Amino acid sequence: MNFKDTIRVIPDFPSPGIRFKDITTLLKDGEAFRAAIEQFKDFAAQRDADVIAGPESRGFLLAAPMAYGLSKGFVPIRKPGKLPHETLSVDYALEYGKDSLEIHKDAVQPGQRVILADDLLATGGTIKAAIKLIEQLGAEVVGICFLVELTYLNGREKLEGYDVFSLVQY
Ligand code: IMP
Repeated sequence: MNFKDTIRVIPDFPSPGIRFKDITTLLKDGEAFRAAIEQFKDFAAQRDADVIAGPESRGFLLAAPMAYGLSKGFVPIRKPGKLPHETLSVDYALEYGKDSLEIHKDAVQPGQRVILADDLLATGGTIKAAIKLIEQLGAEVVGICFLVELTYLNGREKLEGYDVFSLVQY
C-alpha cells in the first residue's frame, strides 16, 4: 500500500505558505484506512498495550478503531471544557499563542501501558502535551503512532526516548 498517494496536499491552507496534509482522502479510501489501522494495531499489540488514547479530533479517528480492533479501551484527550467529569489539564505552546488538552483523571490507571495515536506529527507540541497527561496519571506511554510525520519540523527530537512510528514522511 502506497499511503502517500492517498494523502492530498493543499497549498496555502490554512494560511499562505503552509502545505496542509489532508488525510480525509486516506480515510475515504477503504483499503488504505483499513491497512493503516492494521499497521497501528500491530504496533500496539507488539507493545502489549492496555489502552489506546488519542487527542481531539483526528486522533479519535485512529485511536478508536485501533482500540475496537484490539478489544482494548479507548481514551479521548480533549480540548478544554468538553469532558464532564474531573479532569487534568495541560497547556502547550502553538506557533501563535497556546492551547490546552484535558483528560479524565480516572481515564487511565497507574502502571497501564498506553499507546497514543494522532494523524500528524509536526512540531510535537500536541503529542508532548498528551504524553504529559498520561504520565501525570502514572501510566506509561509505550508507543506513539502517526499517519504523517513532517520530518523537517523535527518533532521527533521532542519525543526522544519514546517509541515513535509514522506511516508516511514528508
Ligand atoms: P504539532 O503539535 O506541531 O506536532 O502539530 C500537530 C497537530 O497539528 C496535529 O494534531 C495535527 O492534527 C495538526 N496539523 C498540523 N499540520 C497539519 C497538516 O498539515 N495536516 C493535518 N493536520 C495538521
